[in-house]
Amino acid sequence: MSLSFSGGKHIPGYKHLTQDLPVVTMAAPAEVIIPLSQHTGAVCKTLLKKGDKVKVGTKIGSSDKLISSTVHSSVSGEIKAIADYNHPVLGTSIAVIITSDGKDELDASIKLRGSVSPLGKEELLKIVKESGIVGLGGAAFPTHVKLTPPKSIDTLLINAAECEPYLTCDYRIMIENPNEILKGINLLKKILGVKNIVVGIEDDKLEAISVLRNKIIAKSYSIKVQPLKTKYPQGAEKQLIKAILDREVPAGKLPFEAGVVVINVGTALALYEAVYLGKPLYERIVTVTGKSLRSPANLKVRIGTKFSDLIEFCHGTSTAASKVIMGGPMMGLAQFSTDTPVIKGTSGVLVLSEKEAPDYKEGPCIRCGRCVDICPVGMLPFALSMCAESKMLEQAAQYNPRDCIECGICTYICPARRRILESIRLIKAVAK
Ligand code: SF4
Ligand code: SF4
Repeated sequence: MSLSFSGGKHIPGYKHLTQDLPVVTMAAPAEVIIPLSQHTGAVCKTLLKKGDKVKVGTKIGSSDKLISSTVHSSVSGEIKAIADYNHPVLGTSIAVIITSDGKDELDASIKLRGSVSPLGKEELLKIVKESGIVGLGGAAFPTHVKLTPPKSIDTLLINAAECEPYLTCDYRIMIENPNEILKGINLLKKILGVKNIVVGIEDDKLEAISVLRNKIIAKSYSIKVQPLKTKYPQGAEKQLIKAILDREVPAGKLPFEAGVVVINVGTALALYEAVYLGKPLYERIVTVTGKSLRSPANLKVRIGTKFSDLIEFCHGTSTAASKVIMGGPMMGLAQFSTDTPVIKGTSGVLVLSEKEAPDYKEGPCIRCGRCVDICPVGMLPFALSMCAESKMLEQAAQYNPRDCIECGICTYICPARRRILESIRLIKAVAK
């Protein structure tokens, strides 16, 4: 039986554009732009300078702050500059710009590990931190911090819902790399010391469910695969926990308060690569798609590759793009330029046509209540939208804007095309 949460809605997926396309490895570009902030937390300090030589996997930035993550070069070559550059989340940010020498030489630190069995929890955590692993679902929270919760937990949930329309990178890795993912999950199990492990997958991803279940049976692993109703935002952490475990995470709190750690399935694969292959996080799978694009694809790309290079690799656009978004269409961020690099949290680059992303005119609220019925956290989205419109930002506090998980389903459902999520983000920013 498929499980779910209250609120939310099944929305068109547009996943057919890429779901059956095997991952293609894109060659390293001539130049990469590697931001020193690709994660939640402190910006890294540069460890090198202009003119220094690097190899694939050379550490180029780190921080002594707890919430931060190490950054590595994704090509071999020379540091051309350390300067501000376009950033897909921050607008602009300090980045290390590296010219590739085309040799793709690996850093001496990258070595296969013969056996991982002797590695204990602390050694594994050190590898996770040194490898720069962050949540690959989009939030990019440093994984070594997530794996050291301040309270004891009893359950590890692997988030493989991939509920955002268009995105299929998680689906592809489940089909193409199930053994590696399951080894990564077993490493997580060892670090967290939990017995209860559940992989949550939406029930329209039947092949992924079947592939993982068969591998689990063949290896006698103690991991459960739980089908979930195909409904947005099924992959939001709190909704996943409610659906699978029927536990509530209190407003403003993190999953460990409910005894759970949630890790994205792509992060489990990155953990496998770091521990077994000695490989830091310098590349990832990105779904590059949208109806403006000639050849949508799932690409394995180096961190720091420009969006414009991805679009060119996909044979450019056949119709003018109305919008370019990093991430999914519901929670992703519209980009002002394609001269912007892939970062660790880039799950997708959407190149949407006018038909897919029309420029709607906002109308007055007709008090239909649809946004209230659909909100997965039981908020009054229309009230927040009206507060923002009337510039009553302080009064908005009574509607608990901080509880909003920014899923955007209220904006999607609104017949008046009100930009509710934009209003809530504004209210939250002002309240900071
Ligand atoms: S869905 Fe739109 S029109 Fe309906 S109550 Fe909410 S804000 Fe108003
Ligand atoms: S108010 Fe926030 S949580 Fe509720 S539907 Fe809108 S974006 Fe999602």
